Amino acid sequence: MNKGAFVVVLGKQGAGKGTQCVRLSRFYAVPHIATGDMLRAAVRAETVLGLEAKKSMEKGELIPDEVVNKMVAERLDRDGAREKGFILDGYPRTVSQAVLLEEMLLPLSLNLVVDLEVPTGVVLRRLASRRVCIDCQAVYSTSQPPKINWTCDICGGEVIQRDDDTEDAIIRRLTLYDEQTAPLVDFYREKSLLSTINGVGTADVVLSRVIKAIESKLSRN
Ligand code: AMP
Repeated sequence: MNKGAFVVVLGKQGAGKGTQCVRLSRFYAVPHIATGDMLRAAVRAETVLGLEAKKSMEKGELIPDEVVNKMVAERLDRDGAREKGFILDGYPRTVSQAVLLEEMLLPLSLNLVVDLEVPTGVVLRRLASRRVCIDCQAVYSTSQPPKINWTCDICGGEVIQRDDDTEDAIIRRLTLYDEQTAPLVDFYREKSLLSTINGVGTADVVLSRVIKAIESKLSRN
């Protein structure tokens, strides 16, 4: 029985965060909390939050901190996230979100922040060919499509190109990542919470690198 883990995964768009986070959440039996997935679900459901977030998301801009912080705070109170842990994907994205996360978690704290490192040339190629299931968010690509006619192998949902996987939005998101999210790497390094993992390789190979880093940290706690 796994003891759970409190983990944040950082990485540029297309670094394989989603794929690794789904697997880590199964391995540690903790919820996968992906702010991008939550926001896309709100857009599809046309909730007040979704209508507010839609335009910024299509352009590749960030949603205001207070909106995302509230959404995460509510999510942490469900599914035993505070007891067993979680895999946080896409949050925090700015230093101010990271500071708030620390406050939200008290008296708990993170075990580890994994930074998946993949060269920009590789992520650009991955993003241009990426296709995702609109229901379960499983990730495919034009070179590895689902078996039957863009229908998800896992849940039967429609597999599409994300609205923000256009060239303009991709460039905007990668620029924002460098400006706003990359400083998080230093923030967590200073707190001795950071583990930089080579994100190039098959999903299985990268997963084993990540689990090794988490296990090593947990054994020292
Ligand atoms: P992702 O699926 O993580 O690439 O997120 C898709 C989009 O959702 C981003 O481009 C932002 O518009 C929005 N988003 C997701 N997470 C956050 C966050 N932590 N802070 C602000 N905006 C976010």
